[in-house]
Amino acid sequence: MNAAQCRALARAGAVLAIDLTAIAGNYRRLCQAAGSRCTVAAVVKADAYGLGAGPVAQCLWQAGCKHFFVATLDEAIALRGDLPDPAIYVLNGPPAAGAEEFAGHRLVPVINDFDQLSAAAKMTRHTPIALHIDTGMNRLGFAPAEVPALIDALRGQPGRMRVDLVISHLAAAEQPSHPINRDQRERFGLIVARLRTLMPDLSTSFANSSGLFLGPDFFGDIARAGAALYGINPVPGRPNPMRPVVRFTGRIQQLRFVDRPMTVGYGARFRLAGAAIIATVPVGYADGLFRSLSNRGRAVIQDLSVPIVGRVSMDSVMLDVTALPRDAVAVGTAVDFLGPDHGLDQLADEAGTIGYEVLTGLGRRVPRVYLHTGGGAP
Ligand SMILES: *Cc1c(COP(=O)(O)O)cnc(C)c1O
Repeated sequence: MNAAQCRALARAGAVLAIDLTAIAGNYRRLCQAAGSRCTVAAVVKADAYGLGAGPVAQCLWQAGCKHFFVATLDEAIALRGDLPDPAIYVLNGPPAAGAEEFAGHRLVPVINDFDQLSAAAKMTRHTPIALHIDTGMNRLGFAPAEVPALIDALRGQPGRMRVDLVISHLAAAEQPSHPINRDQRERFGLIVARLRTLMPDLSTSFANSSGLFLGPDFFGDIARAGAALYGINPVPGRPNPMRPVVRFTGRIQQLRFVDRPMTVGYGARFRLAGAAIIATVPVGYADGLFRSLSNRGRAVIQDLSVPIVGRVSMDSVMLDVTALPRDAVAVGTAVDFLGPDHGLDQLADEAGTIGYEVLTGLGRRVPRVYLHTGGGAP
């Protein structure tokens, strides 16, 4: 742990170390997977999945990333100020109020429906747009049945809107054998071919992180990778090809020496059978340690795994450290909730969720420390 991490840990009781070198390495790893015909764009929505859009995007820019996707207009405007001249795509498209801001900030709206198309026709005369076709998510985008009307609408706008890109999103890319992958690819291929009769130079964007491991048919010209950049395993059930990025550490604030059977925490739900040592760490569900980890999750002290006992509370959590060597625990001892011996996917599993939710749930009050660890590609 470096000096900045130690200071933050001593002051706040917890610290989130974010390894920018690992993020850059993961970007290069994904570029290798994408090959020479596909560009990898970075998805930095939701504050780069909770890790800090500014520092993360700057690090990716230096690693050669020139295309970025965010969800909202405000995320895009903030990102515009962080980088020299990236292409920024806004997945939610133009909001009912605010469409006129796209041109001013040189943002590319992803158009999901006819209302957004009308807004774009009025507001973004000189900026390109992207189209979103829904090939199987039933979430956002034009339904396949709407494509003929979409083509008519675009034809009726001569010389006004420049369509740069058409995107679609895979519903189950992390399950390579799921038949919906093939269905979506076929549907997208047919629709792209029809759109290209009108716009021969149209580029495509299809794969998310996991899609980059499904083979080149799933890539498109621009892949949209988020999760894998931040260390989430894009190929669940197989070894994670990505480098871990996040370390979430707390420090023991107090040790309680219990000498008889008693309960621990809110609701008195966990009963100690006898004498025990309980360590309290000032990290709770307000910091992203989900309450569903109560009596279930684990943490790591000097590479030894210890159980969370009792309910996770808003600002603290209790660990049973009875089994640890006495000299391994003291007030001030560091405890990893996420780290080399307890990864993102493992914590997510214990909490009954996915790494995406763990990352985006990390509390705002936990200080972020950015590391440059050196070393090249993974
Ligand atoms: C969030 C998102 C992505 C990124 O997906 P990952 O699985 O994190 O790589 C790509 N495309 C769309 C439309 C998204 O909403």
